[in-house]
Amino acid sequence: MEIAPYKNLRPYRHIFFDLDHTLWDYEVNSREVLLELYTHYDLKILGGFTDKMFVRAFKDINDQLWDQYNHGKIDSNSLRDKRFMLILASLGASHLDRKLVKEMGNNYLAWCPGKKNVIPHAHEILRYLQGHYQLHIVTNGFEDMQYTKLNSSNLYRYFDCIITSEKAGSKKPHPGIFEFGLEQIGATTTECVMIGDNLEADIKGAQNANIDQIYFNPLQKTHQEEITYEISCLSQIKEIL
Ligand SMILES: [Mg+2]
Repeated sequence: MEIAPYKNLRPYRHIFFDLDHTLWDYEVNSREVLLELYTHYDLKILGGFTDKMFVRAFKDINDQLWDQYNHGKIDSNSLRDKRFMLILASLGASHLDRKLVKEMGNNYLAWCPGKKNVIPHAHEILRYLQGHYQLHIVTNGFEDMQYTKLNSSNLYRYFDCIITSEKAGSKKPHPGIFEFGLEQIGATTTECVMIGDNLEADIKGAQNANIDQIYFNPLQKTHQEEITYEISCLSQIKEIL
């Protein structure tokens, strides 16, 4: 009886990872910065809202803006410019000085990428995968921010190729960013699998490019999509790869 070569047990050679919310803990890192901004700008007195309300409003508005950005409805500059104006307006604090709000937005962008919290098991799983696969990042995040985040969180060392939407000239879920990535790493679609937390950008995106998908769904949100694999904890990747 012929023994199957080892590589047949591992059908993939390349793993594409999303960064924000999949490896870099956007939620926790962002909350830390928002609390720093809240204190720094004395928003309890000047804004008249609680830190919890600030964090909540940020999440609501930011998710909406990112959704518009991923769908090409707004560009990165208007996302960055509008974000804190809309958040403060939603909290009834439109009276704050425009210059101050602009500075707040700039400080958010400056402070956030320096944060190093990662999703539980991120380092462990990347160390586990590193010897067997080539690992790459595929991200819609802003080029300047993503490199800083990868360095601050010590994640950079695991990856061969960092594919950003800015470099690719195309954003997930558009297949163009994956096609650009495949060309960069010299791989075919069947050799790759995409891991990400966003059903639209990561999962539909990989499907559009004929790449297998692992949906990281930590909150176990219900959906109707047919996905190659689904996990709720990064440690479960060991059962698949
Ligand atoms: Mg993500």
